[in-house]
Amino acid sequence: MTANTTASTAAPSAPAPRILIVYTGGTIGMTEDLATGALVPFSFDHLMKNVPKIGRLGYELDHVELDPPIDSSNMSPAVWAQVAKMIADAYDDFDGFVVLHGTDTMAYTASALSFMLPNVAKPVILTGSQLPIGEIREDGTENLITALQIAAARTADGAPMVQEVAISFGRHLWRGNRSTKVSSTNFGAFRSFNYPPLANMDLHIDFHERLLLRPAPGKAFAPAYAMEGAVAVAFLYPGVTEAVLRPQLEAPGVKGLVLRTFGAGNAPTEQWFTDLGGETV
Ligand code: ASP
Repeated sequence: MTANTTASTAAPSAPAPRILIVYTGGTIGMTEDLATGALVPFSFDHLMKNVPKIGRLGYELDHVELDPPIDSSNMSPAVWAQVAKMIADAYDDFDGFVVLHGTDTMAYTASALSFMLPNVAKPVILTGSQLPIGEIREDGTENLITALQIAAARTADGAPMVQEVAISFGRHLWRGNRSTKVSSTNFGAFRSFNYPPLANMDLHIDFHERLLLRPAPGKAFAPAYAMEGAVAVAFLYPGVTEAVLRPQLEAPGVKGLVLRTFGAGNAPTEQWFTDLGGETV
């Protein structure tokens, strides 16, 4: 049975939670260019003006942003390092971090940040939206407010409730490196197939404390930004041929290949396939 904890707001005498918002781009910050009808990123100030109720939270907020903000399809290991560094550089000055990000590659970024920020002892909460803040009907405002509340939440003894990288979206908080985008239209766009939600956000924010990660005792927060980009990913599907896979293995500079296999890790047993691995690995 999971012990649930409803998010506590800070006691009146406690200092206001200090949260850094890292704005990277994505639909949550888009607005319609009235001349062309295209969605273009708008400035962080514009974003804040469209969500005036943020002021009612009583938090101390600051922000940093990518310049220019990007569609998350343009995310890369170099930009992950930039975002991780923004968080690490401000780590001592804030109680928590909210990263506004496009949904398309948010799960990749959450995963990358979890490895770039090992032993993080403060919340790093990614969120975004399916519809831009400022639209008449949208999910961005609630997602932003909820992410801020999660980043500010404390345990009964005053420690940060979340001490890991997580995705807050719709009605659930997910472990960052277990999450997958599952829908381009549903307001519950993310899911983890191999770990339960860390919190349910309904009338209250109910944290499942037993499921939350805690940094290993004695291990210091140790940001590391290097990530190998020369890794190819090959999908296996019924009928995949040597002509499709070999060029990926032999592409210049590729140092490794991740095979996306069937079921629990099964792959064809035909000789051309097993020889392919034997020759190159
Ligand atoms: N294309 C957008 C992005 O990932 C989609 C979104 O934010 O939902 O940046």
